Amino acid sequence: MGFYRNLFKKCDNTSRDVKKAVIIVALMALPLVAGKPDQKRDPNAIGGRKVASGVNFYSLEKELALGKQLAEEIRKQARLVEDPIVAEYVNRLGQNLARNSDITFPVTFNLIESEEIGAFTLPGGFIYVNTATLKLSDNESELASVIAHELGHAAARHATRQASTQKLLDLATLPVAIFGGIGGYALRQLGAPLALFHFSRDFETEADFLGLQYLWKAGYDPESSINMFERVESMERRQPGAVSQLFRTHPMTADRIARTQRDIGQILPNRAEYVINTSDYEDIRTRLLDILEVQRAKDATAPQPPTLRRPNEQLDLDERPSFQL
Ligand SMILES: [Zn+2]
Repeated sequence: MGFYRNLFKKCDNTSRDVKKAVIIVALMALPLVAGKPDQKRDPNAIGGRKVASGVNFYSLEKELALGKQLAEEIRKQARLVEDPIVAEYVNRLGQNLARNSDITFPVTFNLIESEEIGAFTLPGGFIYVNTATLKLSDNESELASVIAHELGHAAARHATRQASTQKLLDLATLPVAIFGGIGGYALRQLGAPLALFHFSRDFETEADFLGLQYLWKAGYDPESSINMFERVESMERRQPGAVSQLFRTHPMTADRIARTQRDIGQILPNRAEYVINTSDYEDIRTRLLDILEVQRAKDATAPQPPTLRRPNEQLDLDERPSFQL
């Protein structure tokens, strides 16, 4: 509005007709600005779209260096699934989605052994999915929908953009502040350092929107993301606390489902066929369940089990109890 006010001030000495003409020209120009086609709504343009525009004080180089540093902390403090066959599968699934995304830098994918349903993304495209999330999914397409959402955060560089607008959060000090304070034990239980990835509602909505398109572009059934939202919601209802706080901060499930359903109808071209499941997914799921079972038995017999919580144990963080899924 300031622009128009100034315009009128300058027009004070001009005739009424000129003022009218200015208003008409301004009003005619508005739809041109507002009607500029939104690239993010064109899934056929995926790959060449600029989805990370916005205020960002972090160069991509700085973001990658920071992500690497944080990923090193995760590697030390969380328990990653290192079985090469499971790790290769998760990476292959992720890289296929990344090839069908707007991401402009290399990304990595890891599974974190955690009984909490969740997934998160570090700056610089380091993506983590909790084993409980894989267990909750029923097919490859549902698992892919979670990874695609995280790729949306990574491609749009939400972590550094959010840090740039919230001056309070200085990412450079986070490794000490977050990881130093939590310690390995609690981090393993949480599956993620929470404060880092509490994205705004707008960024969560955008990650849903981008992720849905990546899922479609990679050939998966976009409806799977709705199935996965419903699974998470149902689990949260049945076992409060089973879903990580990160997932709970996502927009309300009913809104997400309604919006996703609308986007599927409005922006995704129909495909004759969609991938829903693969035999690889089924094999990996079975293999992972076996690995987790062996690990649980090992932890139970270890002198001081590092990942089991005793009922009377006090934790520093305000977190809800974990549940066995
Ligand atoms: Zn998210």
